[in-house]
Amino acid sequence: MKVALIGFGQAGGKIVDEFVDYERRTGLDIFSSPIAVNTAKTDLRGLENVPVDNRVLIGQARVKGHGVGADNELGAAIAEQDIDEVQSALDEIPVHEVDAFLIVAGLGGGTGSGGAPVLAKHLKRIYTEPVFGLGVLPAADEGGIYTLNAARSFQTFVRETDNVLVFDNDAWRQTGESMAGGYDQINGEIVRRFGMLFAAGETVGNDQVAESVVDSSEIINTLAGGGVSTVGYASETVDRSDGGLLSRVGRGSEDAVVDDMEEANTTNRITSLVRKAALGRLTLPCDLSGAERSLLVVGGPPEFLNRKGIERGRSWVEEETGSMEVRGGDYPIPDSETVASAVLFSGVHKVPRIKELQQVAIEARENLDQLQSESEDNLDKLLNEGAEEIAPLY
Ligand code: GDP
Repeated sequence: MKVALIGFGQAGGKIVDEFVDYERRTGLDIFSSPIAVNTAKTDLRGLENVPVDNRVLIGQARVKGHGVGADNELGAAIAEQDIDEVQSALDEIPVHEVDAFLIVAGLGGGTGSGGAPVLAKHLKRIYTEPVFGLGVLPAADEGGIYTLNAARSFQTFVRETDNVLVFDNDAWRQTGESMAGGYDQINGEIVRRFGMLFAAGETVGNDQVAESVVDSSEIINTLAGGGVSTVGYASETVDRSDGGLLSRVGRGSEDAVVDDMEEANTTNRITSLVRKAALGRLTLPCDLSGAERSLLVVGGPPEFLNRKGIERGRSWVEEETGSMEVRGGDYPIPDSETVASAVLFSGVHKVPRIKELQQVAIEARENLDQLQSESEDNLDKLLNEGAEEIAPLY
């Protein structure tokens, strides 16, 4: 699938940078001319893989390249004002080759949190291709203002896009490690999961044809219809000495029984990998029952993939979600050392973390309002109460 990738804000830019690295490592051609947009000059300078010409600094007149300091209303206002600068960068993308747009942003900050929904709205107005979001939720310990920003941005981002794929930093925080220290590893996890979904169906530099291909329309149809998505992932290292490549080479055709056993083995392995992906840690933990549409992709060396395994995996996902709209396919990666499964659940509704985020955001809003209303009074008390004899200078 060909994706026009746009990172908004610091987290957005860093994740896009990581996606470009993923693309290079896999040798695929997925991301058309990735773009990073920011109000902070230093954040753009810190990127390694996004081409310099594709780094767009906005809001110079208002914040002079210093960022918006977690003020997402300012982030949104600047994005609206300078949308033409982002559009100029987009004009360089061969949009006719693109299957979809993907806007990546951390929703707790200012630039990405405010700007990503504004850009989504703009793209929806201009282009016919679907516009998806990849929204990162802040960890719970980042504090009230980040939570409030995220709750407001999330709501708007979902409204303005065709779907928001969510990654919750809170669920992925490493114990005993500061969030900043763990971002590199977390960004790696983000890219591994979402990258595999977008990579499926791309065969550039990979002449292996999948048994049951996942093409871009299947990914788009799974996401289309709006709402929120989460992704599960599991992988295991292939053991080529055991029932794999080595035992196949040089064997006679009379070994049909062994072949059947091997096929059954492969099928079981795939099914259990799909199960592990869905029941393990999701990018946004949630209850999968009621997920409206799903897509599973199993990737790895072709001899470790089979159609039956994918079909069994699909049936299992149907039972788990209670929805019959489950798509699936394989993704042959001949030299891979692992077999991996990524499962996308779209239209999920039972998400405790979102409810918790909204609750904390309401409390933060009330607290801010109260402090604001008391602020003048408090300052007046500090300056004047019991100090009536002191006259101001002028
Ligand atoms: P902005 O530059 O104003 O858009 O704000 P940031 O992107 O710096 O931060 C927004 C939120 O994104 C933070 O509250 C964090 O939750 C998260 N964040 C920041 N950097 C990263 C990163 O590299 N990876 C991930 N996963 N999250 C990040």
